[in-house]
Amino acid sequence: MPYLGNIEYYIPNDGHVLVDGGGAFGLVPRVVWERLITPDEENRVPFSLNSLLIRSEGKTILVDTGYGTKLSKKDYERVGLRRPEGDLVAQLARLGVQPDDLDIVIDTHLHADHCAGNTRVQGDAIVPTFPKAEYYIQRLEWADAIAPNERTRATYILDNYVPLQESGHLKLINGNTQITSEVRTAMARGHTRAHQVVILESKGETALFVADMATLHYHFQRLAWVTSYDVEPLESIETKRYWQQWAVERDALIIFQHDTQVPTGKLRQEGRHFWVEPVSVG
Ligand SMILES: [Zn+2]
Repeated sequence: MPYLGNIEYYIPNDGHVLVDGGGAFGLVPRVVWERLITPDEENRVPFSLNSLLIRSEGKTILVDTGYGTKLSKKDYERVGLRRPEGDLVAQLARLGVQPDDLDIVIDTHLHADHCAGNTRVQGDAIVPTFPKAEYYIQRLEWADAIAPNERTRATYILDNYVPLQESGHLKLINGNTQITSEVRTAMARGHTRAHQVVILESKGETALFVADMATLHYHFQRLAWVTSYDVEPLESIETKRYWQQWAVERDALIIFQHDTQVPTGKLRQEGRHFWVEPVSVG
């Protein structure tokens, strides 16, 4: 596993899904985005399902839990889930990390592609996948997710998080939260009302797990490129404006959750032009 200062980290992957290109790129016309990423015959583009595994100050922390194992075969087909290298739990096992080893799970938000792996089926019950972990979820995200509406109910699926409350694994947090002295969450509103990102800081080095604040690296380069899934697109633009500057000033390593082309990179700036320079990590 690579290091960032004293922090050990790894980017495990739960495979990828196939997402409608219009969903991924919102108002950006297909003739513009298809020069950058080629859709399949059903106009779908791949979205990686990256998580972030962190070892900091003796704590083992997982950020987001992928698509999990609870959906029917038909549901997996609907989202185009592909797992050529096995699921997230299998990847963690290859690193020598068992579900029992996790101390903390952080959900950036409660959309199904980020948190369905929180829980799994055991007999007739739905139980936490990581039985010894506390699950850190923003209080406002929780409130939105337990009362989905006509717009959000396709992706706010109660079985992915309500069982955590029943089993005593839920830890609701309020805004920016320090996890260890080197790891913290920060609000990055727009994709959802209480979407959060995760920051690693150690020995002068910085990394930023952007989650859906910038779904693909193209979305971080261009403020106006916002997915159709963002519930507050104008907030997303202001949020990205802030984090663009933040990332450039710190020379931060950016970890993109859904980007199959550029999973990690650094944001560079020349005048008003921003671009992501790919950086590969161990
Ligand atoms: Zn997502």
